[in-house]
Amino acid sequence: MPLSDDVEHEVDLAAPFLPATAAWADPLWSGLRNGVLIIQKCECCGNFVYPPVEEMCAHCDNAYTWHQASGTAKLWSWVTFHRTYYPGYPLEPPYTVLMVELEEGVRMLAALGADTAVEDLRCDMAMQFRPLRLSRDVLIPSFISSSAP
Ligand SMILES: [Zn+2]
Repeated sequence: MPLSDDVEHEVDLAAPFLPATAAWADPLWSGLRNGVLIIQKCECCGNFVYPPVEEMCAHCDNAYTWHQASGTAKLWSWVTFHRTYYPGYPLEPPYTVLMVELEEGVRMLAALGADTAVEDLRCDMAMQFRPLRLSRDVLIPSFISSSAP
C-alpha cells in the first residue's frame, strides 16, 4: 500500500538514532542516568512490565507504579549484529543485544556491556545491570556478566 502524501517522512540522517524518551516514562530514563533500573509493576496482580507502557495493566486494568529493579538477571538469549541497519544508530557493529530475564520475572532486551566478551556468554548465566551511555543525556539498559570485574 503506498504511503499517504500528506504524511512527512523526512528523517534527519545526521542525527543520532536515540530512543524516544517520553515524559511519562521519565522514571526509567532518569533512573538510567542515576545508575539504577526502574521498571513498572501492577500492585494488583503483581506483574512487572518492560518496556514501560503508558496504558493500564492488560490483566486487571490498574495503573502501574514504578519500582527499582534488583538489577540481577539471567541470560535468556542474545544476538550479535554485524552491520548497521539505521543511519545514526549509536552502537558500532559488531554489537550484541541480550534478552535477559530479570529477578522480578520479566524479560527485557538490553545491550551487552563492554566488560563482558560475547565469547563468554552462556544461557542462564548470571548478569548484572550496568547502564550504557549513548549520548550526554540518554543511557540504555545494559548487562554484564556478574563475574565481570
Ligand atoms: Zn495487573
